[in-house]
Amino acid sequence: MTSGRPAPGGASAAPSSRTVHVRAEVLSRKKVGRYHHLTLVAPGVAERHRPGTFVAVSVGGPDSARLARRAFWVLRARPAGAYGGTVELLVAERGAGTRWLTTLAPGATVPLTGPLGRPFALPREAVACTLVGHSEGVAALQSLAERLKERGCTVHVVLAAADEAGLYGALEARRAARTVQVVTEDGSVGLRGRLPDLLPGLLEAQAPDVVYAAGPTAVLHAAAAAAEQRGAWSQVALTGPMPCATGHCLGCAVPVVGEDAVARSVRACVDGPVLRGDRVRWDAWGAPA
Ligand SMILES: Cc1cc2nc3c(=O)[nH]c(=O)nc-3n(C[C@H](O)[C@H](O)[C@H](O)COP(=O)(O)OP(=O)(O)OC[C@H]3O[C@@H](n4cnc5c(N)ncnc54)[C@H](O)[C@@H]3O)c2cc1C
Repeated sequence: MTSGRPAPGGASAAPSSRTVHVRAEVLSRKKVGRYHHLTLVAPGVAERHRPGTFVAVSVGGPDSARLARRAFWVLRARPAGAYGGTVELLVAERGAGTRWLTTLAPGATVPLTGPLGRPFALPREAVACTLVGHSEGVAALQSLAERLKERGCTVHVVLAAADEAGLYGALEARRAARTVQVVTEDGSVGLRGRLPDLLPGLLEAQAPDVVYAAGPTAVLHAAAAAAEQRGAWSQVALTGPMPCATGHCLGCAVPVVGEDAVARSVRACVDGPVLRGDRVRWDAWGAPA
């Protein structure tokens, strides 16, 4: 990274400490646009959550052959309260596992492990930050926006989705952000267009020192490239499949350039999921779009 601007708390933050495994109980489930918003009682997880870490949930019940756990951002963690620690997830139905999760009734329990992975690095100084979230990726950014505001940072939020039903979190973002820009591909709300095409212009206006991004790989790549072009730092939260989520299966290898300038692979689940955008070798990576 060539920027002379203040680094966001160093190259990468420490991994989440003391991951715990709990049987989480569904407290509530509601449909919001295209998503299901789940609140789970998960004592110990909420207390340890830091923005950018994630949880892994077993799906399908005790007799299920779906052994790979499914990863989710923690939209909001409430360490204390009447239920003794809750985490909120934003679930988009993709395949059998997420479909199963969206049928759970209050009182049902699921094995849940977390927090996992390395969180977003936070700036040491009160700099300007743009948070770029696409589809369910916005779930990674809500608590980050609040943390950055607490630190005195100027927060700009860019929320994008294919259409209005895929947008989440504009109202919540307004609490922490100085500006909230909405983008939809079909133009049903906000600016019309593809986020990767519009990002360079949006960043030009916001002039961030740090860009944080969560969403599909094309969005992360575009955010990293647009930040680099401006001489800003970027932190990208990867969401490709992470089958074991604990670093053992090597199913989430990402090509990077290390601080020693040597090309190598890292495991997104334990070395990430948050990486510096300028470290990822985007062109060498066959990640899902
Ligand atoms: C760190 C992390 C955080 C995530 N946070 C969220 C979140 O907050 N909300 C949310 O809804 N989803 C999130 N995801 C994605 C979620 O884990 C997958 O959608 C889920 O595992 C799919 O499981 P399934 O059984 O429904 O689909 P599967 O039957 O496993 O897969 C259905 C299709 O989706 C593809 N797919 C599976 N996993 C992924 C993935 N991770 N990325 C892209 N394509 C995939 C498969 O290749 C297949 O084509 C996150 C993923 C990661 C790695």
